Amino acid sequence: MSERHSADPQRRAFLRAVASAATLGTLSLPTLAPLQAFAKEMEMLVKGPPVPDIPANKLGKYTYVVIAPDGFPNPKNQGMMSNVTFVVTKQGVVILDSGASVQIGEMVLRQIRKATDKPVIAVFNTHYHGDHWLGNHAFVEAYKDIPIYAHPLTTSAIKTGQGEFWQHLMERSTDNATLGTIVTPPNKDIHHGDEFNYGDVTIRCHHYGKAHTPADVCFEIVEDRIVHVGDVAMDRRIAFMEDGSYLGTFKAMDELQKIKPKLWLPGHGQPGPDVLKNNRELLEGIYGACVEAIQQGKPLEEAKTMVLADPRVKKWASQTKGFNENIGNYTSLAYTEAEQVNF
Ligand SMILES: [Zn+2]
Repeated sequence: MSERHSADPQRRAFLRAVASAATLGTLSLPTLAPLQAFAKEMEMLVKGPPVPDIPANKLGKYTYVVIAPDGFPNPKNQGMMSNVTFVVTKQGVVILDSGASVQIGEMVLRQIRKATDKPVIAVFNTHYHGDHWLGNHAFVEAYKDIPIYAHPLTTSAIKTGQGEFWQHLMERSTDNATLGTIVTPPNKDIHHGDEFNYGDVTIRCHHYGKAHTPADVCFEIVEDRIVHVGDVAMDRRIAFMEDGSYLGTFKAMDELQKIKPKLWLPGHGQPGPDVLKNNRELLEGIYGACVEAIQQGKPLEEAKTMVLADPRVKKWASQTKGFNENIGNYTSLAYTEAEQVNF
């Protein structure tokens, strides 16, 4: 319990930083080019320690996931805050989201070696939050010139501020455990409906507009009937919605439900058959209470009370990590979005 307690200020600081980056849109860098070049050189010399092994779980004939126990980065977990998935195909290993640092990518490579000696042949990133792609560095280091796929809006966001922002945010949040991680943006575009065939496994791309971010891509591992949803849905986590949309998330969930997979694989938390349904219930509780508040002409403060009293929210609050720290923010975002839609 004391461990959880001590991590809370870090978690709050992390979420504040994420929120401010979203508000700014892009990060403006100081014009200290020589100093930056020097810092870059120093960075190459210093590298954070290896991340302890987390054995992969096998979810299907082809799909494995290395599950992050925590939802937020801190010095103890060294930034291991999001799941890394790998799919062993006839042609080689495909990575779906690569983790939050080069060290995490390297740890996942060690787990891959326990399952297969095939090379990694492709990396896919769901969206531009750094815990889902900073690990790209490790795979490019091990396998030169491999394609890294993402939606073009994800790639441009990484190249225009989100890259450095997340690199430094992870360093700060982990007491420099992720040091040595170099921003390695995607190099190939994907769009809704794209399919990649790797001999025995097909990866199908799903993008339904703005949901958790403007450019989330979910990956259907067709033969295993598993859908990797990135952060469009989380398992008992509440992250942040600054870049996203409630209604967009519901729309994306409607479309994804049509796939009827046997398992949803979220970026955070455990995979399961009810991840979308459960997460949607919580989000609909928050958004629904805000719509009601607006229809009754109530201000934000009263909307917050209504959200906390909503039975759907009450049902999930106690088992949702980050709930207390984030619910205020989540509610104001829902209130703003509901106001825009209803007036
Ligand atoms: Zn995210």
